[in-house]
Amino acid sequence: MKKIASYIAGEPRFENTAGKFELYYPATGEVIGHVAEASASDVNDAVTAAREALKGRWGKMGLEERLTLLDRVADRIMERFDEFLEAELQDTGKPASFARNVDIPRGAANFRIFANMMRAFGTEAFEQETADGFGALNYTIRRPVGVIGVICPWNLPLLLMTWKVAPALATGNTVVVKPSEETPQTATLLAEVMREVGVPDGVYNVVHGFGPGSAGEALTTHPGIDAITFTGESATGTAIMRAAAPGVKAVSFELGGKNPAVVFADADMEEAVAGTMRSTFSNCGQVCLCSERVYVQRPIFDEFVERLAKGANELTIGDPFSESTGMGPLISRQHREKVLGHFERAKADGATVHAGGGVPQVGKRFSGGYFVEPTVFSGLSQDSALVQQEVFGPVCHVAPFDDDDEAIRLANDTEYGLCAAVWTSDLKRAHRIVRELEVGIAWVNTWFLRDLRTPFGGVKLSGVGREGGIHSLNFYSELRNVCIKL
Ligand code: NAD
Repeated sequence: MKKIASYIAGEPRFENTAGKFELYYPATGEVIGHVAEASASDVNDAVTAAREALKGRWGKMGLEERLTLLDRVADRIMERFDEFLEAELQDTGKPASFARNVDIPRGAANFRIFANMMRAFGTEAFEQETADGFGALNYTIRRPVGVIGVICPWNLPLLLMTWKVAPALATGNTVVVKPSEETPQTATLLAEVMREVGVPDGVYNVVHGFGPGSAGEALTTHPGIDAITFTGESATGTAIMRAAAPGVKAVSFELGGKNPAVVFADADMEEAVAGTMRSTFSNCGQVCLCSERVYVQRPIFDEFVERLAKGANELTIGDPFSESTGMGPLISRQHREKVLGHFERAKADGATVHAGGGVPQVGKRFSGGYFVEPTVFSGLSQDSALVQQEVFGPVCHVAPFDDDDEAIRLANDTEYGLCAAVWTSDLKRAHRIVRELEVGIAWVNTWFLRDLRTPFGGVKLSGVGREGGIHSLNFYSELRNVCIKL
């Protein structure tokens, strides 16, 4: 049985915490460890340690020394790659091929990339004219915000956590991280890495636990936290925004999605089907960027649906540790109940089932796992629950459209606005369409292709602010203007 500790001021803390909760392996449903739940007092210790660290060696460190430490964090994650991989597979049940190529390398790359961005990006300066003719010089300096509360989801645990921690540390802040209760291991492993490479104690703290009435709430309401960065459900974002309001804390939110894929008749059919397979079923559909609504132009509708359903039926479901597995389980028993509830409701609403719709046979060893079938529906009205609510599972609903205006209207008919994927060989049309889509990220003839210097975030219920590149560095910095009269 694993023992997963919080990490406060450079020390693991397992005993004398609020209690222990069980950690399940989603592929079998077995308990694989116990996690120390941080109490409000533990959270207070973590925030205090983070504040102290701002005043100590970390706060006084030169920029290059700090960034070199972050390069070493990246190196050390890669040296301990197999441990990170195993921890991530045990926590999430995602396929090894996905975590090996996406989660762990991106976790390391985030540190390298934000260290390099801090090296590369300058600030602004203005020469100002004054009545006496001598003028003034304005320039901007970048100062850390302070202690950042980092609250993370379970779907891409290391990747999304480091996407926040790396720029926060690159700009000189300290952090208290609250990973998801479902996926605590890689945050604790990262604490060991921080120690090993010489990041001062208290710069990176981890508190495990839940949201309301637990470590999450204690963190967001703590007066010693200066800003909160959160990725998770839109409803949780609302609760955190409320908690942050009394302290007027800055917030950066990456929230839910109900993302459209729009496939035109002139698209490359092979690429559009393969791309939509990935955008629907990657990580068992548990990526905020997944397409759960697919709109296909009428002349190719039947062929597209048939090919997508064939692809879904051919996915290999099962052992996360097998390199040939294409889809693993959902994260938890509770989430599976929610996803299967959506499937039942869709069928009751009259959906046509082209693939899946239930629980797959995965053999005795995985019979207790949280598997569901990759599922393709059609035939529902635009206002039905499956077309409007985020499922966060391996499912899409496919509907036909006739022209550009209808495609735009259907794609935008949602409370969310994270991303969209447009498939067409006509780039003029693509450009016209993406200007009209109410999203933060639009892909044309691809999906999930990320240049980490670009802005990332959503509109409507999908988020507040942008992360990535200079946008992350700006969120984690106070930009101070200095005006010198010459
Ligand atoms: P969640 O909102 O249930 O939980 C996220 C984190 O918030 C967890 O660590 C949880 O313990 C904590 N939390 C919950 N209630 C809280 C509270 N009141 N105060 C403080 N902390 C609280 O989300 P999840 O189920 O872990 O993740 C899935 C969701 O995340 C989906 O909606 C998905 O779309 C979204 N997501 C968005 C992005 C993005 O970049 N936009 C990326 C990944 C996931």
